[in-house]
Amino acid sequence: MDEANYQAWFRCFKGCDGRFPLTDVIYECPTCGGLLEVAHDIDALKTRSATEWRALFDQRYMRTDWPYGSSVWGKKELVCPTVENDNVVSMFEGGSNLFWAERLGQEIGIDGLWVKQCGNSHTGSFKDLGMTVLVSMVNQMIAQGQNVPAVACASTGDTSAALAAYAAAAGIPSVVFLPKDKISAAQLLQPLANGALVLSLETDFDGCMALVQEICLKENIYLANSMNSLRVEGQKTISFELVQQFDWEVPDWIVIPGGNLGNVSALAKGFREMHAIGLIDKMPRIAVAQSAQANPLYQSYMHNFDSFEPIQAQPTLANAIQIGNPVSQEKAIDALKSFGGVVEQATEQELADAAARADRTGLFTCPHTGVAFAALFKLVDRGVIKKDERVVVISTAHGLKFTEFKLGYHQDQLQNHGVSAALGNEPIVLPPKADVVRDTIFRAIEKKQQLTV
Ligand SMILES: *Cc1c(COP(=O)(O)O)cnc(C)c1O
Ligand SMILES: [Zn+2]
Repeated sequence: MDEANYQAWFRCFKGCDGRFPLTDVIYECPTCGGLLEVAHDIDALKTRSATEWRALFDQRYMRTDWPYGSSVWGKKELVCPTVENDNVVSMFEGGSNLFWAERLGQEIGIDGLWVKQCGNSHTGSFKDLGMTVLVSMVNQMIAQGQNVPAVACASTGDTSAALAAYAAAAGIPSVVFLPKDKISAAQLLQPLANGALVLSLETDFDGCMALVQEICLKENIYLANSMNSLRVEGQKTISFELVQQFDWEVPDWIVIPGGNLGNVSALAKGFREMHAIGLIDKMPRIAVAQSAQANPLYQSYMHNFDSFEPIQAQPTLANAIQIGNPVSQEKAIDALKSFGGVVEQATEQELADAAARADRTGLFTCPHTGVAFAALFKLVDRGVIKKDERVVVISTAHGLKFTEFKLGYHQDQLQNHGVSAALGNEPIVLPPKADVVRDTIFRAIEKKQQLTV
């Protein structure tokens, strides 16, 4: 059976009538104004058995047959079957390490602690997984003669890096709307280097989001934010891939940091679809981790999701999740309700210490993953996550994109965020003299031995 037998289309996430081709420029349901989602022909997908799908996915995984070596396009039939392979814009997404965090797990009494290293990718965050699908579809639209003058997004730093890179690879003009002085130097540099038009706006992410929506809707510029549900299709492959990496076993818990809440929605969609076509027979529980400075989902969770109130997000070291009015909150709440979901929050001190603690066991943690680890530690302490359960923490970006955060911690210069660095580590400046160097080394070794009980 070839790919032509598999169909996908946009439909209203809340169930209004209507089916729209994936090449339509449409982001909301024309009936209710709610978010769209990509629907797949599940019956057609079920004509292949779970065993056959697994064999196909395993055969393609990280090999060279274009474009299936990318772990997003390796699941093409379940992701975006209507893009022609010649139009795919891919940088070999996915295939990121599922790291057994043995030492960190031992410290908190969990044997089965794993970290999905989604930041080990082309632009250093999981955003690549969704952007390859969106930009490939735009590339196809352009190839078919549609007028798409540019692609644009608002960003807390990682979406714009991914959009700029994929657009540059395809030769499509890109425009990024960034909140001035609220992203890291690396995040600002990435779209600049890739030749995007970079607009540094004197507002926060929510302000950028409102502006980019207004301009895209009026000017026929293609909107690349996660309200565009093509991104969710790529991001949901995190679920496929981590289950594949466990030889098709489902973990008990997944802990994921959440800002705009597209990624947790994607994660849930991935598990639902694997279940629907028989690839898995159980579902994980999901814990969303938010910064206490930007915690509208946490607040809603504290009220049993009875209501959801957007808030004014406060500055947080976890800048990529400094979002007060998340676009995908309805999808996320729907997912959490059906996945036995919980929401936990982390203060600036907690996220910074958690990142540093994880780093001491060999990781190199971005602040958002720090939020996830801090939430994990609390949930284990409270007995919500049991010690014999298998837990996957989704690491969303590479720590190297956040050197200001990491240097600031180790130099104990994060007082403006109320953070003091209990686990800080600074270089020791010495004269180039062998005896001084030797004394310093042995004093340090002795001190360490006293420290490790
Ligand atoms: C985008 C992003 C998040 C948040 O994902 P959402 O889909 O907005 O919830 C978390 N961490 C990093 C590093 C990100 O770039
Ligand atoms: Zn609708």
